Amino acid sequence: MRRQAPKPKLQETVKIPPRLFKFLRYAHQLIVREDDVATTQSDDLIQAEEFLGWLLAYGGLIEEGGSRFSFTYFSEPKQTRKSWEFELTKEQIVEIAAGRLTELTLWACSSPDCGCKFQKPDDTCFYCDYEEIPAA
Ligand SMILES: [Zn+2]
Repeated sequence: MRRQAPKPKLQETVKIPPRLFKFLRYAHQLIVREDDVATTQSDDLIQAEEFLGWLLAYGGLIEEGGSRFSFTYFSEPKQTRKSWEFELTKEQIVEIAAGRLTELTLWACSSPDCGCKFQKPDDTCFYCDYEEIPAA
């Protein structure tokens, strides 16, 4: 059994890596085209495979009719370990695709080995923010 034991996170401003930029440009194209995957509420309808069976990133529209999207990006190829989870508005995605917005401000796990980053300081990391409950 595991229970939540949240650890403090550190706010970080990171440059959008080229792999993520490529994905967000793709998301931007889908949004501009009003593709179903960008106008339907979902967690993962917008997705890009980088290698066979390995996603680069995925995401979707948070609320039908809204303009906020949630994304999960895998910061290392062929791994799901070091993920970034964040939200962007349609306007921010436009700015990123145009090269005017080049950084994201996220909350990173304080453990140097983790590599996960989140939208909010109280988001929960699967790896860092749980502890085993010792068997009685
Ligand atoms: Zn973590």
